[in-house]
Amino acid sequence: MTDNTPSVDPQASVNKKFESSAFTRIKNHYEALRSGLGDGNKRSSEYNTAKCKCCSEKFPDITGVWSQKNYTFLGNAYTPEDSMDANKHLCVHPNLWENGASNHLSGVFEVLPGKIYQVRGYDMSNLTFVRSNPSGGDPRWIVFDTLMSNECTKVAMDLFEAYLKKTYSDYSLSGSIVGMIISHSHIDHYGGMETVMDYFIDPKNPDNNGKIIENSDDEDDGKNTENAKESKDDVKKVANCFILAPAGFYDHAVSENVYLGNAMGRRASYQYGSFIKPMDENDLCGEISIGIGQGQSTGKPSAVGRPTIEILENVTLQLDEIKVEFQLTPGTEAPAEMNNYIQDYQALWLAENCSGTLHNLYTLRGAEIRDAKAWSHFLMEAAVKYGNKTNVIFQSHNWPHWKNGTTENDVPTVNIRDFIIETASIYKYIHDQALLYMNMGYKMNEVADMLVLPRGMQKNWTLKPFYGTPVHNAKAVYQKYLGWYDANPIHLQELPPEQLAKETLRYVMAGSREKMLSMIDEDIAKGNYWTAAYMSNQMILSGDCDDISDKVRNLCATALRQLGAQCESGTWRNAYLSAAYELVNKKLQPDQVKSDQLAQMPPETLLDYISIFFDGELAAKFNCDSTLAVLKNGIYTYFAFVVKNGAILYYEITEEEYNKSDNKINVSFDELKSVAIGKYSVENNILRDISNALINVASYKRFKYFDIIGRHDSEVKASGDNPIDLKKEVSDCILLLEKYVGKFNKKTPVLVLSEEDKQSWNDYYKLLKEDTHVILDGDFFIPGDKSMGIGNDGKFMQYELFYTLYALYRYLYRSYLKNDYGYKGNNFDEESFAKLKQSIVLLETYVADYYLCNSKTNISLEDDDFEAWRYLNNDTKESSKQSLNVADFFKELYKRYKELSCEIKSTGKNFFLESVADDKRSITVHNASHNRLQCNNVELNDVIQNDSAVIDVSKIDKNAIVETFYQSGEEMFVTGRLVYRK
Ligand SMILES: [Zn+2]
Ligand SMILES: [Zn+2]
Repeated sequence: MTDNTPSVDPQASVNKKFESSAFTRIKNHYEALRSGLGDGNKRSSEYNTAKCKCCSEKFPDITGVWSQKNYTFLGNAYTPEDSMDANKHLCVHPNLWENGASNHLSGVFEVLPGKIYQVRGYDMSNLTFVRSNPSGGDPRWIVFDTLMSNECTKVAMDLFEAYLKKTYSDYSLSGSIVGMIISHSHIDHYGGMETVMDYFIDPKNPDNNGKIIENSDDEDDGKNTENAKESKDDVKKVANCFILAPAGFYDHAVSENVYLGNAMGRRASYQYGSFIKPMDENDLCGEISIGIGQGQSTGKPSAVGRPTIEILENVTLQLDEIKVEFQLTPGTEAPAEMNNYIQDYQALWLAENCSGTLHNLYTLRGAEIRDAKAWSHFLMEAAVKYGNKTNVIFQSHNWPHWKNGTTENDVPTVNIRDFIIETASIYKYIHDQALLYMNMGYKMNEVADMLVLPRGMQKNWTLKPFYGTPVHNAKAVYQKYLGWYDANPIHLQELPPEQLAKETLRYVMAGSREKMLSMIDEDIAKGNYWTAAYMSNQMILSGDCDDISDKVRNLCATALRQLGAQCESGTWRNAYLSAAYELVNKKLQPDQVKSDQLAQMPPETLLDYISIFFDGELAAKFNCDSTLAVLKNGIYTYFAFVVKNGAILYYEITEEEYNKSDNKINVSFDELKSVAIGKYSVENNILRDISNALINVASYKRFKYFDIIGRHDSEVKASGDNPIDLKKEVSDCILLLEKYVGKFNKKTPVLVLSEEDKQSWNDYYKLLKEDTHVILDGDFFIPGDKSMGIGNDGKFMQYELFYTLYALYRYLYRSYLKNDYGYKGNNFDEESFAKLKQSIVLLETYVADYYLCNSKTNISLEDDDFEAWRYLNNDTKESSKQSLNVADFFKELYKRYKELSCEIKSTGKNFFLESVADDKRSITVHNASHNRLQCNNVELNDVIQNDSAVIDVSKIDKNAIVETFYQSGEEMFVTGRLVYRK
C-alpha cells in the first residue's frame, strides 16, 4: 500500500486542466449556497475549528515524500463565481474545498495547553503527544499513533522539539518518549514506529521493557505480548518503552498490508490521488484532500512491529504518571482498534472512529467490509461512558473538538456527547436503512440509490462524506450481509469485463430490438447460452420490451435451462432452473407457518429488529434521548436509548445509571414486541411514534416475493391471483387523481371523488396502501385514521391530494434524481433541467418535517437552503417564500416531479399548450421550454392517450382534448374540458 511513488511528468499539469461544465457549476454553486459559503469570504465551522490553537505554523516540503506547498490556494475562501476558467472555484465541491483547507493547515497545534499537542499536516495522519508527567520537570510524552512514513515522522518530531525548545531551552525530545499507543492496524498509524522508538527513554535499561510492571519478575516466556487481563479496579502500571496496541493488531496489520500490499497499493493510488497532486499554487484541477488528510506520503514505512502489550479487554493502565482507560472497538474502522480516555486530562482519544467526517465501511483501496453496527455501538459506548465528562476529543486524523465552555471564546465548541452520538447515528442509519431496503428485495445498486440521508445528517459538517460516501457505504452493508451475489443466476458466472464489453457492443451494433431478438436466437443455436440469457435479461430489465415480453422471456428461460442442465453444482442448477421457471410461470407462494421469533429474542435483539424496520427517512425528525428499561421474565435490562436523525441507537447501562436519568421509559417485553409489529398505541410516547413508522416488510407479499430475475415490482403479488406491474398501476392511479388537481378554489377547499372514480380509488387504496405500501395516504398525517389523505372516504383537501400525488410520482421517478439519467433535452435546456432535479432533491429533505402534520403546518426552509432554493428557482426578485404550508410544499414537489416525468418520457420536440382564453374553449400552442404546460387525460385525434405528458402538436391533425392541465411558470392550475382544434 506504499510503493506507489509516481514519477510525475511536469507536462501532466497542462494535460489535466479541465473546465467545469454548466451542470457542474450549477451543482457546486448550489452546494456552496446550501453550506453557507456563497459570498466569497465565509468559511465552514470546521475550518474555523481546525485553524484554532496553532502554536507553530510550518508547511512541510519533504522532497519526493510529502509536500503541502502547492495547496496554498485553499487559504482563500470559496467563491462561487460562474466561469469556465479551470482555476475558478466551481471546479471543486465547496465542502471538499473546506476540508482540504482544514487539512492544509500545518504545524504544531495545542489540544490541551501543556498536556496534549499534535503535529498536523505532515502526512495523512496526525502525530500526537500526550504528556505523561504532569507533575512537572522536563516533559515526557506518550506518542499516540505515528505518521505513515518514517521521513514524515522524523520531520514532525523535529518540529515539535523546536517548539518545545522555546520553553525548555536545552530540551531534547530524544529520551523523552516513554512509549507509544498504536490505535489500530492501519499503516498510517504505525508506519513511523521505528522513528518514534529512536526517541524512547533509556531503552537499554532492562526495566524499560514496556510490560506490566507486576509481571516484570516473571520469566519471559519468549512472547512479547503480555496480557493486560488484571481486574479493572486494580490499575496496573506499565514499564516505559511500551508499545500498546489493540488485540489482533499484529495479525490484522500483516493481513491488510502484507498479504495484499501490491493490490491495495495500486488501488490506493486512485483513492489518494497520488499522481494528480497540484502542480503549482494555481492548480485547482488536481487533488484537494482525501477527507482525513491532505494526501498520502510516499516515504518509507516501518515494518509491522510487535507491540509490547496487546490490549485484550477494556482496562485502565498507569503509563508513567497518568491513568489511561482503554476501550476496545473491534470491527469499527479497523478489525483491531481502540479508543482511550485519559483520566487525568478528561480527554478522549477516538483513534479513527470519529474523525469529523463520514468514514468508509469499505475502503476504495479494498479491504474487508467494516461493521456499521459495531461502529455505532462502540461510539454509543464512548458517548455513554465518557461523553459527559470529556473536555476534548481528538483523533489521529483531522482536528480536535472542544466541549462547550472549556476553552477561549473564539474557539468553536460542541456538546461532546451529542457529537459522538451524531457520528454513531450516521453509521446506524446507513446500516438499518440498507437492511430495510435489502429486506424489501432491492439489489445492491438499488439499495445505494434508495438511501437518502436525513437533512440533519446532510447539513452536519462533521458527518459530510469527505472520505466515505453513503452510496459506497450502503453497498458495503449489502456486501457484508448478502455478499456480491444478487440472486439473479445470470450473475453467477458473468463474462470478464473485456469479453462482456465485446458482447455488449456486438448487440448494441444490432440497432433494433428485432435484430437483438434474432441474435439471441442465434446465440442459443450456437450454444452461447450465457450471452443469450444476459442480453434477453437486459431487454426484460429495461422495461422497454413489455410488448414482446413473452418472446424475450422464453428466450431467456431457454438459455437458462441449458445453463442449468450443464451444472455439476446442484445449487447452481436449481438457481438457473428456478429463474427460468419464474420467467414463464407465476411466482410460487410457499406459505410457511412461522414461529414467534420475536418472543425468543433478548431485548437488545428486539431493539435491533425494530430499528431495521424503522422508516428512518420518514421519521427523521423524531428526537429522543432517554433511558429505557425492558422487563422480560421478571428481569430488567436497561439501555441508553436515543432516536436521532432517523436512527435508533441504544447501549446497555446499569440499573444505577438508569435510575439517575431524568427521562425514563419503562416497558414490558410484550409491549416492546407490540412496537416491533407496529401495534403499540400508548399515547404521547416515542415508542408509539416508532411503532407507527415501522414497515412490517414480512407482511407484504410485494416484499416477500420480490422480483429476482425481472424488474423490481414488475410482477407484484398482491391480494389477487395474477401478478401485477406495480409501476403501471401507480401511473394509472396518478391519471385518476390528477383530474382533481385544478378543481380546488376558495369556495371548494374540499373535494370528493366522483362515484365512478371512488370505485377505482378503492381498488388503488387497497393495492397501493394496504397491500404494497407504495403510499402511506393518510398515515402520513394521522396514522390509523382512514379518512385522512384521500382515504377510504374519497374526500380530501389540497394538501392531501398533493401529498398523495407526490408520493406516487416519487415511487416512479426517485431513481432519476441521484444520477445523470433522464435528461433528453426535449423540454428543458441543460441548466433548467439540472436545477429542476436539484430542487426536488432539496425539497425532499423537508418531507420528514411535515410527517404527522395537519393542514395548518408551515415549515420554513433553513436560511442557507432558502438561498439555494432561490438560486434554483432563478429567483432574482425575492419572490420565493421561505415558509411553505403543507399544501404548497407538496404542490411544489408534485409539480416538479411531474415536469421531470415529462422530460423522461418525452421522445421528440414537443409543443405545449400555453394559454387559455377566458371561455376556456380554445387554446393556443407554441414551442416552449420554460413556460410550459402539461396536460392530463389527453385525447389526441379521437384516441385517448395513456400518457399524461404533453401534446405534440405536430401530431394533431384533427383535435386534441385535454381534461386538466397546469401552467408551471404561472403557478396556475386550471381545469375543465379544453379542446384544441387545428
Ligand atoms: Zn485507519
Ligand atoms: Zn488512518
